[in-house]
Amino acid sequence: MLTTAKEILADARANRYAVPAFDCVEDVMIRAILETAEAKRSPVFVMCLVPKGNDWVYMPGLVRAVADQHDIPIVLHLDHAEELDSIKRAVDSGFTSVMIDGSKLPLEENIRITRAAVEIAHPHGVSVEGELGHVGGMDLEAAEHAENVLTEPQEVATFVGETEVDALAVSIGTAHGVYRSLPDLNIERLGELDAASRVPLVLHGGSGTPDEQIRNAVRAGICKLNIFADCRIAMCRGLRQAAGSLSREDPLPADVFGPIKSAIAQVVAEKIELLSADNRAGQSGRGGQSGRGGQSGRAGQSEAVQ
Ligand SMILES: [Zn+2]
Repeated sequence: MLTTAKEILADARANRYAVPAFDCVEDVMIRAILETAEAKRSPVFVMCLVPKGNDWVYMPGLVRAVADQHDIPIVLHLDHAEELDSIKRAVDSGFTSVMIDGSKLPLEENIRITRAAVEIAHPHGVSVEGELGHVGGMDLEAAEHAENVLTEPQEVATFVGETEVDALAVSIGTAHGVYRSLPDLNIERLGELDAASRVPLVLHGGSGTPDEQIRNAVRAGICKLNIFADCRIAMCRGLRQAAGSLSREDPLPADVFGPIKSAIAQVVAEKIELLSADNRAGQSGRGGQSGRGGQSGRAGQSEAVQ
Protein backbone atom coordinates (compact mmCIF):
# COMPACT_ATOMS: atom_id res chain seq x y z
CA MET A 1 0.00 0.00 0.00
CA LEU A 2 1.09 3.58 -0.52
CA THR A 3 2.31 5.50 2.48
CA THR A 4 4.38 8.57 3.24
CA ALA A 5 8.12 8.82 3.74
CA LYS A 6 7.57 10.32 7.17
CA GLU A 7 5.88 7.20 8.47
CA ILE A 8 8.29 4.52 7.27
CA LEU A 9 11.39 6.58 8.02
CA ALA A 10 10.25 7.07 11.61
CA ASP A 11 10.21 3.29 12.02
CA ALA A 12 13.61 2.98 10.34
CA ARG A 13 15.13 5.59 12.65
CA ALA A 14 13.65 4.01 15.77
CA ASN A 15 14.94 0.56 14.81
CA ARG A 16 18.27 1.51 13.14
CA TYR A 17 17.75 0.18 9.64
CA ALA A 18 17.46 1.96 6.29
CA VAL A 19 14.77 1.77 3.62
CA PRO A 20 16.04 1.17 0.07
CA ALA A 21 15.03 3.77 -2.51
CA PHE A 22 15.31 2.90 -6.19
CA ASP A 23 15.16 5.34 -9.06
CA CYS A 24 12.81 3.95 -11.71
CA VAL A 25 12.97 5.19 -15.26
CA GLU A 26 11.45 2.22 -17.08
CA ASP A 27 8.24 0.39 -16.23
CA VAL A 28 10.09 -2.95 -16.33
CA MET A 29 11.88 -1.84 -13.15
CA ILE A 30 8.70 -1.21 -11.15
CA ARG A 31 7.49 -4.81 -11.11
CA ALA A 32 10.91 -6.26 -10.33
CA ILE A 33 11.37 -3.84 -7.43
CA LEU A 34 7.90 -4.22 -5.90
CA GLU A 35 7.72 -8.01 -6.21
CA THR A 36 11.18 -8.44 -4.71
CA ALA A 37 10.50 -6.00 -1.87
CA GLU A 38 7.27 -7.82 -1.05
CA ALA A 39 8.99 -11.21 -1.11
CA LYS A 40 11.57 -9.84 1.35
CA ARG A 41 8.86 -8.10 3.45
CA SER A 42 10.67 -4.78 3.05
CA PRO A 43 9.29 -1.27 2.87
CA VAL A 44 10.50 0.45 -0.30
CA PHE A 45 10.72 3.78 -2.09
CA VAL A 46 9.94 3.77 -5.80
CA MET A 47 11.48 7.00 -7.03
CA CYS A 48 11.04 8.89 -10.28
CA LEU A 49 13.53 11.43 -11.49
CA VAL A 50 11.58 14.46 -12.69
CA PRO A 51 9.52 12.88 -15.49
CA LYS A 52 9.33 14.16 -19.02
CA GLY A 53 6.25 13.98 -21.28
CA ASN A 54 4.13 10.88 -20.77
CA ASP A 55 6.37 9.63 -17.98
CA TRP A 56 4.38 11.98 -15.75
CA VAL A 57 1.38 9.75 -16.49
CA TYR A 58 2.92 6.29 -16.76
CA MET A 59 5.40 6.14 -13.90
CA PRO A 60 3.20 7.36 -11.01
CA GLY A 61 0.15 5.83 -12.70
CA LEU A 62 1.69 2.36 -12.79
CA VAL A 63 2.86 2.50 -9.19
CA ARG A 64 -0.49 3.76 -7.94
CA ALA A 65 -2.37 1.13 -9.94
CA VAL A 66 -0.53 -1.79 -8.32
CA ALA A 67 0.50 -0.47 -4.90
CA ASP A 68 -2.56 -1.76 -3.08
CA GLN A 69 -1.87 -5.29 -4.38
CA HIS A 70 1.44 -5.36 -2.52
CA ASP A 71 1.20 -5.83 1.24
CA ILE A 72 4.22 -3.69 2.08
CA PRO A 73 4.59 0.07 2.67
CA ILE A 74 5.46 1.75 -0.65
CA VAL A 75 6.47 5.38 -1.01
CA LEU A 76 6.04 6.96 -4.44
CA HIS A 77 8.76 9.60 -4.38
CA LEU A 78 9.87 12.34 -6.75
CA ASP A 79 13.67 12.51 -6.72
CA HIS A 80 15.78 15.66 -7.25
CA ALA A 81 13.13 18.21 -8.19
CA GLU A 82 14.72 21.63 -8.55
CA GLU A 83 11.58 23.58 -9.53
CA LEU A 84 8.46 24.22 -7.48
CA ASP A 85 6.36 23.49 -10.57
CA SER A 86 7.62 19.89 -10.42
CA ILE A 87 6.54 19.68 -6.76
CA LYS A 88 3.06 20.95 -7.65
CA ARG A 89 2.76 18.48 -10.50
CA ALA A 90 3.95 15.61 -8.31
CA VAL A 91 1.31 16.45 -5.69
CA ASP A 92 -1.34 16.49 -8.43
CA SER A 93 -0.02 13.19 -9.84
CA GLY A 94 -0.39 11.30 -6.56
CA PHE A 95 3.19 11.13 -5.33
CA THR A 96 3.32 10.57 -1.56
CA SER A 97 6.78 12.08 -1.12
CA VAL A 98 8.97 14.60 -2.93
CA MET A 99 12.55 15.80 -2.78
CA ILE A 100 13.28 19.45 -3.38
CA ASP A 101 16.96 19.79 -4.19
CA GLY A 102 18.27 23.26 -3.41
CA SER A 103 21.71 21.91 -2.58
CA LYS A 104 23.45 23.90 -5.32
CA LEU A 105 22.03 27.14 -3.92
CA PRO A 106 23.38 29.31 -1.12
CA LEU A 107 21.94 28.29 2.27
CA GLU A 108 19.35 31.08 2.48
CA GLU A 109 17.99 30.29 -1.00
CA ASN A 110 18.01 26.57 -0.26
CA ILE A 111 15.93 27.24 2.86
CA ARG A 112 13.55 29.48 0.93
CA ILE A 113 12.78 27.04 -1.92
CA THR A 114 12.63 24.04 0.45
CA ARG A 115 10.18 25.86 2.73
CA ALA A 116 8.07 26.75 -0.32
CA ALA A 117 8.00 23.07 -1.37
CA VAL A 118 6.87 22.09 2.13
CA GLU A 119 4.03 24.63 1.95
CA ILE A 120 2.88 23.08 -1.33
CA ALA A 121 3.21 19.43 -0.26
CA HIS A 122 2.21 19.23 3.40
CA PRO A 123 -1.42 20.36 3.03
CA HIS A 124 -1.88 17.32 0.75
CA GLY A 125 -0.21 14.87 3.12
CA VAL A 126 2.92 14.61 0.98
CA SER A 127 6.32 14.26 2.70
CA VAL A 128 9.28 16.44 1.73
CA GLU A 129 12.99 15.64 1.65
CA GLY A 130 15.54 18.46 1.44
CA GLU A 131 19.29 18.38 0.87
CA LEU A 132 21.92 20.26 2.84
CA GLY A 133 25.51 20.22 1.62
CA HIS A 134 25.88 18.77 -1.85
CA VAL A 135 26.33 15.18 -3.07
CA GLY A 136 28.38 15.54 -6.24
CA GLY A 137 29.42 13.01 -8.86
CA MET A 138 28.59 12.43 -12.49
CA ASP A 139 25.27 13.56 -13.93
CA LEU A 140 23.18 11.08 -15.93
CA GLU A 141 24.32 12.37 -19.29
CA ALA A 142 27.90 11.95 -18.00
CA ALA A 143 28.63 15.50 -19.04
CA GLU A 144 29.28 17.20 -15.74
CA HIS A 145 31.13 16.15 -12.60
CA ALA A 146 30.22 18.12 -9.48
CA GLU A 147 32.36 18.16 -6.34
CA ASN A 148 31.01 17.13 -2.95
CA VAL A 149 30.32 19.75 -0.30
CA LEU A 150 30.08 18.02 3.07
CA THR A 151 27.07 18.93 5.22
CA GLU A 152 27.89 21.25 8.13
CA PRO A 153 26.38 20.03 11.43
CA GLN A 154 25.83 23.59 12.71
CA GLU A 155 23.50 24.33 9.77
CA VAL A 156 21.24 21.32 10.34
CA ALA A 157 18.97 22.59 13.14
CA THR A 158 18.32 25.89 11.33
CA PHE A 159 17.62 24.19 8.00
CA VAL A 160 15.27 21.58 9.45
CA GLY A 161 13.58 24.06 11.79
CA GLU A 162 12.94 26.74 9.18
CA THR A 163 11.91 24.43 6.35
CA GLU A 164 10.01 21.76 8.35
CA VAL A 165 11.23 19.00 6.03
CA ASP A 166 10.42 15.40 6.93
CA ALA A 167 13.78 13.96 5.87
CA LEU A 168 17.23 15.40 5.22
CA ALA A 169 19.71 14.27 2.54
CA VAL A 170 23.27 14.81 3.73
CA SER A 171 26.68 14.77 2.08
CA ILE A 172 29.31 12.64 3.84
CA GLY A 173 31.44 11.41 0.95
CA THR A 174 29.22 9.44 -1.44
CA ALA A 175 28.75 10.58 -5.05
CA HIS A 176 26.16 10.06 -7.80
CA GLY A 177 26.90 7.62 -10.62
CA VAL A 178 29.82 5.24 -10.91
CA TYR A 179 32.82 6.00 -8.67
CA ARG A 180 36.15 6.95 -10.19
CA SER A 181 37.80 5.85 -6.96
CA LEU A 182 36.31 4.21 -3.89
CA PRO A 183 34.66 6.59 -1.42
CA ASP A 184 35.66 6.98 2.20
CA LEU A 185 32.54 8.00 4.10
CA ASN A 186 32.90 10.41 6.99
CA ILE A 187 31.02 8.41 9.63
CA GLU A 188 32.09 10.73 12.44
CA ARG A 189 30.50 13.67 10.61
CA LEU A 190 27.40 11.58 10.01
CA GLY A 191 27.07 10.95 13.75
CA GLU A 192 27.21 14.70 14.39
CA LEU A 193 24.59 15.34 11.70
CA ASP A 194 22.27 12.70 13.13
CA ALA A 195 22.60 14.18 16.62
CA ALA A 196 21.77 17.63 15.25
CA SER A 197 18.75 16.55 13.15
CA ARG A 198 15.28 15.93 14.48
CA VAL A 199 14.32 14.26 11.18
CA PRO A 200 15.72 11.05 9.60
CA LEU A 201 18.79 11.30 7.36
CA VAL A 202 19.05 10.18 3.73
CA LEU A 203 22.13 9.11 1.76
CA HIS A 204 22.30 9.62 -2.00
CA GLY A 205 24.91 7.99 -4.21
CA GLY A 206 24.47 4.59 -2.57
CA SER A 207 25.52 2.62 -5.66
CA GLY A 208 29.05 1.27 -5.69
CA THR A 209 29.73 2.22 -2.07
CA PRO A 210 31.44 -0.70 -0.26
CA ASP A 211 28.99 -2.70 1.86
CA GLU A 212 30.87 -2.20 5.12
CA GLN A 213 30.70 1.59 4.71
CA ILE A 214 26.97 1.39 4.05
CA ARG A 215 26.48 -0.73 7.18
CA ASN A 216 28.43 1.82 9.22
CA ALA A 217 26.35 4.65 7.76
CA VAL A 218 23.11 2.89 8.70
CA ARG A 219 24.42 2.31 12.23
CA ALA A 220 25.28 6.03 12.45
CA GLY A 221 21.84 7.25 11.38
CA ILE A 222 21.10 6.82 7.65
CA CYS A 223 17.43 5.77 7.25
CA LYS A 224 17.03 5.87 3.44
CA LEU A 225 19.57 4.88 0.80
CA ASN A 226 19.16 6.03 -2.80
CA ILE A 227 20.25 3.55 -5.48
CA PHE A 228 20.25 3.97 -9.24
CA ALA A 229 23.57 3.12 -10.92
CA ASP A 230 23.66 -0.40 -9.46
CA CYS A 231 20.26 -1.13 -11.08
CA ARG A 232 21.45 0.27 -14.41
CA ILE A 233 24.53 -1.96 -14.26
CA ALA A 234 22.31 -4.96 -13.44
CA MET A 235 19.97 -4.19 -16.35
CA CYS A 236 22.94 -4.10 -18.68
CA ARG A 237 24.13 -7.46 -17.34
CA GLY A 238 20.65 -8.94 -17.88
CA LEU A 239 20.44 -7.49 -21.37
CA ARG A 240 23.75 -9.04 -22.37
CA GLN A 241 22.67 -12.39 -20.93
CA ALA A 242 19.36 -12.25 -22.80
CA ALA A 243 21.00 -11.26 -26.08
CA GLY A 244 23.48 -14.10 -25.77
CA SER A 245 20.83 -16.75 -25.22
CA LEU A 246 18.24 -15.87 -27.85
CA SER A 247 18.23 -18.25 -30.77
CA ARG A 248 14.81 -17.60 -32.31
CA GLU A 249 14.13 -14.79 -34.70
CA ASP A 250 10.86 -14.23 -32.80
CA PRO A 251 11.90 -14.73 -29.14
CA LEU A 252 9.28 -14.84 -26.43
CA PRO A 253 9.02 -11.57 -24.48
CA ALA A 254 9.78 -13.48 -21.28
CA ASP A 255 13.09 -14.59 -22.77
CA VAL A 256 13.93 -11.00 -23.71
CA PHE A 257 12.91 -9.27 -20.48
CA GLY A 258 13.24 -12.13 -17.96
CA PRO A 259 17.02 -11.90 -17.49
CA ILE A 260 16.78 -8.11 -17.13
CA LYS A 261 14.09 -8.37 -14.43
CA SER A 262 16.04 -11.12 -12.66
CA ALA A 263 19.18 -9.01 -12.60
CA ILE A 264 17.27 -6.05 -11.12
CA ALA A 265 15.60 -8.32 -8.57
CA GLN A 266 18.97 -9.67 -7.45
CA VAL A 267 20.30 -6.16 -6.77
CA VAL A 268 17.09 -5.17 -4.97
CA ALA A 269 17.29 -8.24 -2.71
CA GLU A 270 20.96 -7.61 -1.93
CA LYS A 271 20.32 -3.97 -0.99
CA ILE A 272 17.36 -4.88 1.22
CA GLU A 273 19.54 -7.31 3.17
CA LEU A 274 22.46 -4.88 3.32
CA LEU A 275 20.20 -2.24 4.90
CA SER A 276 18.53 -4.73 7.30
CA ALA A 277 15.19 -3.74 5.77
CA ASP A 278 13.96 -7.31 5.28
CA ASN A 279 11.04 -8.42 7.47
CA ARG A 280 10.31 -4.82 8.53
CA ALA A 281 7.15 -4.37 6.46
CA GLY A 282 4.86 -5.74 9.13
CA GLN A 283 5.90 -3.13 11.66
CA SER A 284 4.69 -0.09 9.79
CA GLY A 285 2.47 -1.60 7.15
CA ARG A 286 -0.26 -3.20 9.22
CA GLY A 287 -3.56 -1.61 9.99
CA GLY A 288 -4.63 -0.49 6.58
CA GLN A 289 -3.69 2.59 4.70
CA SER A 290 -1.95 5.37 6.46
CA GLY A 291 -0.58 8.79 5.62
CA ARG A 292 -1.66 9.70 2.14
CA GLY A 293 -2.42 6.04 1.65
CA GLY A 294 -3.80 6.00 -1.86
CA GLN A 295 -6.34 8.68 -1.21
CA SER A 296 -6.01 11.78 -3.26
CA GLY A 297 -4.74 14.72 -1.27
CA ARG A 298 -7.03 14.99 1.67
CA ALA A 299 -6.61 18.31 3.37
CA GLY A 300 -6.51 17.90 7.09
CA GLN A 301 -3.77 15.30 6.97
CA SER A 302 -1.16 17.98 7.13
CA GLU A 303 -0.71 17.48 10.87
CA ALA A 304 0.41 13.95 10.11
CA VAL A 305 3.39 15.09 8.11
CA GLN A 306 4.61 18.10 10.04
ZN1 LIG B 1 20.57 11.81 -5.59
